[in-house]
Amino acid sequence: MDLVVRCARLPQPGETVAALSYEQISGGKGANQAVAAAKAGAEVSIVGRVGDDAFGQLLISRLEQLGVHCSSMMVTPQCESGMALISVEESGQNSIVYVEGANGRLVPNDVLQVRNLIESSDTLLLQLEIPLETVIAAMQIAKQAGVRVILDPAPVPPSLPAELYEVDLICPNESEAQQLTGIMIDGIETAEAAAKELYSRGARHVAITMAERGTLLFDEKGARVVAPFKVNAVDTTAAGDAFAGALAVAWAETGNLEMAVRFGNAAGALAASKAGAQPSMPSREELISQWPHWQETD
Ligand code: ADP
Repeated sequence: MDLVVRCARLPQPGETVAALSYEQISGGKGANQAVAAAKAGAEVSIVGRVGDDAFGQLLISRLEQLGVHCSSMMVTPQCESGMALISVEESGQNSIVYVEGANGRLVPNDVLQVRNLIESSDTLLLQLEIPLETVIAAMQIAKQAGVRVILDPAPVPPSLPAELYEVDLICPNESEAQQLTGIMIDGIETAEAAAKELYSRGARHVAITMAERGTLLFDEKGARVVAPFKVNAVDTTAAGDAFAGALAVAWAETGNLEMAVRFGNAAGALAASKAGAQPSMPSREELISQWPHWQETD
């Protein structure tokens, strides 16, 4: 849960300032991507943990309202839900303190409990806001069952375990790709070098998202840029989550990754054109009515 206060200016250390507004905004990469995938038309279950505080129930009920199945969400007693305390000043500068809370309590045994759910899915979409050993456990279940695995490697940990590169698709944004590879990305050529490096570490496909410049895709066919959609960007916060959720759906549906990346680009662009996170994730109808020819990748 993001607790967002707006203020005229951020307080200095030791200073107290009054908030101009306060909001409780549902967040979390996994939750945002689950909503993006559900709104893009898939049947989506989320696996995770919340605390036994009031935010836990609120997070779950909001996810259910947006069409995400939450029967595999677990509650950790005597623990707070994961949250971020976000202060934003009028200039747009912000400062963020986060509390890992129950997200840090999702252990490998929890995903073993939902083995059937993972095994019966088309796609497992992973992020890194839970312990890495749990991400690995979920990935292993999926791989053994032949379920497609997509990893959004965010937030980037100090060291990403080697086996986590061995997925069907890894989809970092430019700064994440840079953190993972140590390659400074300042254009298509350097993005391609980073993508090649991630591919050499074992990812079958690599998609580096580049905001208004679209997405660089790299795999055995080489590198190509999947074109962006033009929008007037107002809030790019959850663009990457919209991209990942929608891409996962379109890839499962069409089996065509270029087409899926194009659909992800459309979702990222539409998300960037609107303020807000989960409730403003683009629906399938919105995407298709805005860009009826999204399948044309040229
Ligand atoms: P993140 O939110 O993780 O930083 P990006 O900003 O790269 O990720 O956005 C993800 C995808 O959303 C991009 O690959 C692109 O297709 C789309 N997108 C994001 N911002 C814009 C924008 N301003 N205009 C058009 N498309 C955008």
